[in-house]
Amino acid sequence: MNYLEKLKAKISLPQELPLLPKVENSKNKPTIATALTAKSTLGTLDSTRGTHFLPFDIPEKTFQQQHDDLWLQAEKLADFIDDSKSDVHWKVRTARVPELQAMVKKLDGLEILMKTKTKDKTMNIIYEPKGPAKEYAKLAANIYKSCTHSCRYCYAATHMRKTKETFHSANLVKKDAISDLKKDAAKLRGDDREILFYFLGDPYNPDEPELGITRQAIEIMIENDLRFTILTKGGSRVRRDLDLFQGYRKSSIWQTIVFSKQESADYWEPNAAPLRERFNLAKDAHDMGIRTWISLEPGIDPDQALEVVRQLHPYVDMWKVGPVTKQQTDVDWKQFKIDIEKLFKEVGANYILKQELLVRAA
Ligand code: SF4
Repeated sequence: MNYLEKLKAKISLPQELPLLPKVENSKNKPTIATALTAKSTLGTLDSTRGTHFLPFDIPEKTFQQQHDDLWLQAEKLADFIDDSKSDVHWKVRTARVPELQAMVKKLDGLEILMKTKTKDKTMNIIYEPKGPAKEYAKLAANIYKSCTHSCRYCYAATHMRKTKETFHSANLVKKDAISDLKKDAAKLRGDDREILFYFLGDPYNPDEPELGITRQAIEIMIENDLRFTILTKGGSRVRRDLDLFQGYRKSSIWQTIVFSKQESADYWEPNAAPLRERFNLAKDAHDMGIRTWISLEPGIDPDQALEVVRQLHPYVDMWKVGPVTKQQTDVDWKQFKIDIEKLFKEVGANYILKQELLVRAA
């Protein structure tokens, strides 16, 4: 079996997507953007140089699903390429493997289409998440744009098309983040949709105690009567701001705790706060009347996930359970779903099972 055949055996390559630009025999290949412009102004365009075919009558759901499927396939393929050498840049990967190059082009095209259809051009930093991220929050904002927690399962580096080495080397703040957030918050003032901080970084990373960026962001939310939550593995670093959460009923603290054993966390989340800090934070925040959520995603070790529920359920208002995003594991998702639902029911916990878990367990 040659290299390409091995790749194809490892993943199922996506079907040709009907809404993507098809460009043939062109010396001056139009970019996806120009092909889109051509389609939007002229409809299906036939010329001596090739055919550009972009039906626009596909429902948005299908459109979104195709985007998500493609990301999943691209990530699987990238992982496979990385089996021999981790953390190669997307450009290096794509240069090496034509299939991945093609997928990235398609993703670019889909993202252009989605932005064209849905981006609220009046907003600077608060946005509506797409794909599986929608299950977390209706709105989100990313103030930091990298993260030193260095989780092995981190999806953010791939999403930002950066090497993990680069993404995990610093906790960088987006340019004009706070002034942009102020403008967006003022526009949304009073809106009841929850805003999640952050998908692409941790609000309580090791630099936050000194920088105080997340604290400023929270104050802006409160000033504008906006509902928000933070998603963190920062443990005791959150304590500095508990006064803000405690006095504001439209807030909550959401922690990722997928392990009960510190040695597992040390391996998978090497620079995140110790589990003991995260467990204690959930207990203390709950006792202070602050709403607490726990994300059991990624579900790497079902036994440890069940143990987290046993130990923390009296202090958690809501559990959210999902599978792994990229890593290949031998988890029996069907059995895990049965076990965790049984436990949630036994202890009377509120929980949400993510769509991807339901699919994998079916
Ligand atoms: S905390 Fe989140 S953003 Fe930071 S490294 Fe871990 S998974 Fe990535």
